[in-house]
Amino acid sequence: MNYVLRNYAKLSHLNYDQHGRDWNVETGKQQSPISLAKHQAVRSTAPTLTFLNYGKTIASPWKLINNGHTLTMLIPPAANGSQPALCGCKLESVYKAVQLHFHWGAPFSKGSEHKIDSIRYDAELHIVHQNSAYALQQEALSSPDGFVVLGFMLKLVPKPAINPRALNKVCSQASQVKNFKTTSTLKGEFSLRDILAGIERQEFFTYKGSLTTPPCSEVVNWFVFPKAIEISKRYLRNLWYLTDNRGKPLINNYREVQDLHGRKVYYREKSNQTKQDTFEYT
Ligand SMILES: [Zn+2]
Repeated sequence: MNYVLRNYAKLSHLNYDQHGRDWNVETGKQQSPISLAKHQAVRSTAPTLTFLNYGKTIASPWKLINNGHTLTMLIPPAANGSQPALCGCKLESVYKAVQLHFHWGAPFSKGSEHKIDSIRYDAELHIVHQNSAYALQQEALSSPDGFVVLGFMLKLVPKPAINPRALNKVCSQASQVKNFKTTSTLKGEFSLRDILAGIERQEFFTYKGSLTTPPCSEVVNWFVFPKAIEISKRYLRNLWYLTDNRGKPLINNYREVQDLHGRKVYYREKSNQTKQDTFEYT
């Protein structure tokens, strides 16, 4: 996760040369990412997640930024209350979508942060949501319920069953932000739901974890989705050509998996009987 990098004193020194082993951060026992396994997870009977305004077109043009660590897009706040947000499941608050970014590999390696059933995927998309109970980012950063992050796996296939058009567009535009600190405006209108290309969103792992970039604060409720979004190489490969603040290739930008330390990981399977499933989009 790269949400707080702007505020982190060691920003200019951060890199993925050792996948975080050399970050010198004070961490606890709820770190992310982790290795997720269906057969070890506790079956969850929690209600569905509710995706608010995920189908609404994002109001202003989206800006892509190469911040030296990832390709990121801030989700513009909407004055009319149509900000994409999350609630439901066992969340006690509404969480507003504030930012999305990616972790990826290289031409011959994979780069998702979480592993699922021992598999590392080609890339991982994170959509960061901040608890609306906290007006300031700083408050959310010091609260155990400060953030919800959704993690979606991206899988390279020759021909995706569902063409992820919005995601293709984002990846194509990455060629405009190859260098550190460059930005580019995305043309065309789409919603967050378009980016997720119709994948199943009521089947997920959930656990208590942390930011995956310094300061690695343990303030995140993670939801990680096992059904990967398929994407073709001609689009995803654009991420491999970004460069970091040293001018080096920005590749394999994932933190190594962390110890579970006895935490419970829950796995929710989609249930056809759940009435609320029909209300997952608003
Ligand atoms: Zn991330």
